[in-house]
Amino acid sequence: MSIASEGLQSSTASKPQRKLVSIIIPFYNEEDNVAATLEEIGRCVNHDLYDWEVIAVNDGSSDATLAVLEASRPHNVSLVIVDLSRNFGKEAALSAGLEQARGAAVIPLDADLQDPPELLAEMLALWENGHDVVLAKRIDRSSDGALKRMTARAFYKVINRLSDVEIPNDVGDFRLMDRRVVDVLCSLPETRRFMKGLFAWAGFRTTTVNYTRPERALGTTKFSGWKLWNLALEGITSFSIAPLKIWTYIGFGVALLSFMYGGFIVITTLMFGADVPGYASLASMMLFMSGLQMMGLGVLGEYVGRTYLESKNRPPYVIRSVRNRKAQKHDG
Ligand code: UDP
Ligand code: MG
Repeated sequence: MSIASEGLQSSTASKPQRKLVSIIIPFYNEEDNVAATLEEIGRCVNHDLYDWEVIAVNDGSSDATLAVLEASRPHNVSLVIVDLSRNFGKEAALSAGLEQARGAAVIPLDADLQDPPELLAEMLALWENGHDVVLAKRIDRSSDGALKRMTARAFYKVINRLSDVEIPNDVGDFRLMDRRVVDVLCSLPETRRFMKGLFAWAGFRTTTVNYTRPERALGTTKFSGWKLWNLALEGITSFSIAPLKIWTYIGFGVALLSFMYGGFIVITTLMFGADVPGYASLASMMLFMSGLQMMGLGVLGEYVGRTYLESKNRPPYVIRSVRNRKAQKHDG
């Protein structure tokens, strides 16, 4: 923090001490996007106040992403290549990047230019004004399909109803975080990390900038419907135990209904005698009840499974190597 404030004040001096800003980019089979993304970042960064490092996390790509990264000589920014030992998923790749980042401010962004680096200047200005977190909010998601937008809206609604932390709508991982926030995130012990939730959980003084999310530059999305569904489950189970608790009330409701129905049967039997037929209603009720029980077990299983995986305490990712490339000369 002290280095940071010195840098700002002495910017007019002959050799200003600049703050370091880290940009974290997870790469999973993004060979076609590496050059364009690094170039765009080099074009957008400002060197009067800041030094820049890009932490490129290669998340077990099976294409030439790593080779392209290693061959690239980005202008204006130094490049740290963190090579994970296999594909651990975006959440883990981001965690690896956060762990490696040295900057006073840290900004994760996607490799496909869907998080435009042009916003960096505006985000840094807000940071300098005393905000610890600057969220980039998508005001226009028309680059996403209708189904994705609909399911995303439903997801945010559900998770915000169920969990105590407010996870902001239409905000991805693209955000600026002060060093203090990053330190908090790195100190969290959990190994299964739902980053959007953890970011929100950390809190701090937060503000927002708006942007229109462009289409993915090249390549295809790495998140299929099934992967997104699992991410959503992960998010809900890591930030809420409401799905567990609700079974108390469902159980109570069903018990009450059964009791009332039992009373009804006793009374009708007393009044009209035993009514032998009734196979259909009995069967359907039994099926309904066992379905309900199965659902309850399933929810329980989700949480027991999480606890089990968490209790193994395995690291969220494994780093194969970290390589550092110095910044090329600033041009202009
Ligand atoms: N990504 C990753 N590991 C994965 C999947 C994705 O590091 O297992 C990266 C990917 O390379 C990209 C970012 O996460 O930089 C976002 O992925 P994508 O653009 O496919 O997601 P979408 O924008 O479609 O939500
Ligand atoms: Mg994308």
